[in-house]
Amino acid sequence: MQEIIELKLVFKFGGTSLAGPDRIRNACNLVKHYSLLGNRLVVVCSAMGDTTDHLLALLSAAEEGRRDEMEAILTQLESDHLEATRGAVDDGELRRAAEDRVRSMLLDLRHIISGIYFLRESTPKSRDLILSFGERLSTWIFTCSLRSMGVGAEYFEGGDAGIVTDSEFGYATPLLEQCLTLVRERLEPVLSRGSVAVVTGFIGRTPDGAITTLGRGGSDLTATLLGWGLGADEVWLWTDVDGLMTTDPRILKTAKVIPQLSYDEAIEMAVFGAKGLHPRALEASYYGGIRVRIKNTFNPSAPGTLITSSSINTGTLVKAVLLLRDVAMITVKGATAVGRPGSAARILQSLANAGINVVMISQSASESSISLIVARRLADRAVEAIKRSTDAGMVQKIECEKDVAVVAVVGEGMKGTPGVASRVFGAVAKRGINVRMIAQGSSELNISFVVKESDGVEAVKAIHEDYGLGA
Ligand code: ADP
Ligand code: ASP
Ligand code: MG
Repeated sequence: MQEIIELKLVFKFGGTSLAGPDRIRNACNLVKHYSLLGNRLVVVCSAMGDTTDHLLALLSAAEEGRRDEMEAILTQLESDHLEATRGAVDDGELRRAAEDRVRSMLLDLRHIISGIYFLRESTPKSRDLILSFGERLSTWIFTCSLRSMGVGAEYFEGGDAGIVTDSEFGYATPLLEQCLTLVRERLEPVLSRGSVAVVTGFIGRTPDGAITTLGRGGSDLTATLLGWGLGADEVWLWTDVDGLMTTDPRILKTAKVIPQLSYDEAIEMAVFGAKGLHPRALEASYYGGIRVRIKNTFNPSAPGTLITSSSINTGTLVKAVLLLRDVAMITVKGATAVGRPGSAARILQSLANAGINVVMISQSASESSISLIVARRLADRAVEAIKRSTDAGMVQKIECEKDVAVVAVVGEGMKGTPGVASRVFGAVAKRGINVRMIAQGSSELNISFVVKESDGVEAVKAIHEDYGLGA
């Protein structure tokens, strides 16, 4: 393992790294190892395994009055967390105390969910409260496991650690200045005492005390915010792969780890579906100037991926090829509607008002059409919003295709290098794949295009191979 000594580090463990007692122990051993080397550590925990998905399923079952399913999920959550507590906390007395609190949290969860069952409805606020149980349970178990290994550890809920947010439940935004000040105030004394602060990822709190969540994958953001507030040397995101890779390793077995990336490249990767990363987390590390490493809990001696302000030249212009599924393409056609000044702005504004994020946009002058990519689950709402915003009779046609995917090619070396686009599209054309829409970010860091969903994997393979990115 790298000999990292006397640094201030934030470690974040993702769900897979905490799925079950053995993995929790393994993660705690990593914390112990780096702490014994003289580093000051803050740990951020995600919920164990797929707990957040299970909590979402629990919510749906309660809202829709499916009692048996609700009961089955609750029972599973209870046994997963109790088993983890028993298996990860050795010391008898600590284990009993740990179990007591786990049981009491699980009981609270039962009470809240049965309220939702009887009402047959939840609010964004109560949903966030329910989702927060995943991280609160895992973090408490982790804290007790560390203590049982002889490591001084203090448990913090996000809000107590200083993660104060607005009240947009489900996708809350941290109130930056307050956060940075509070984080320092709350956690610095813990580090000075020589203890490890263990903080729930994903959740924050509004100034008036309600629990919020930061959006799926939000524990990454918790980690980089804490890192920024504390002026940490590095934030390490521990996950289940050796680092950020040239493409999703589940799509292509030959995907290779990228040793170093710039923040800009990593943000593009995160936006375009490298699921390992939360885009807002990278923004926080960028502004805070905190180096980020992605490391594998199952292979800790691997160097991982380092994200800093500079990129390194890997000898290839393209660093990664990503596939974003679960999207839909909406095309607005009609000379009068699209050809007028301000029409693109009006369409985008209507989507913004409906809270719908536009992933890609391209406008073709000759065909008088605008194409937009949005998340598939929001596609119908998006079409409605556009219809409402455009004057009757102006729009001739709004088409919505749901069987599409976005392929994104990322790399800082593409900047100012002619011929990248033609090579990318050449590689795709050779496989007989039809490209439906193209966009190039003005940063020239990324070329993205839309294909039929069934062609997505093949298009990724074509470019990955053409640029020799694989192992
Ligand atoms: P965690 O639970 O640790 O936060 P995630 O499940 O959010 O982990 O993200 C890690 C997963 O992201 C990996 O298991 C990998 O399959 C997937 N993934 C998708 N694209 C990439 C990529 N380009 N590089 C690395 N991992 C990727
Ligand atoms: N548990 C949350 C999720 O599954 C947050 C995270 O893992 O980062 O999205
Ligand atoms: Mg994640």
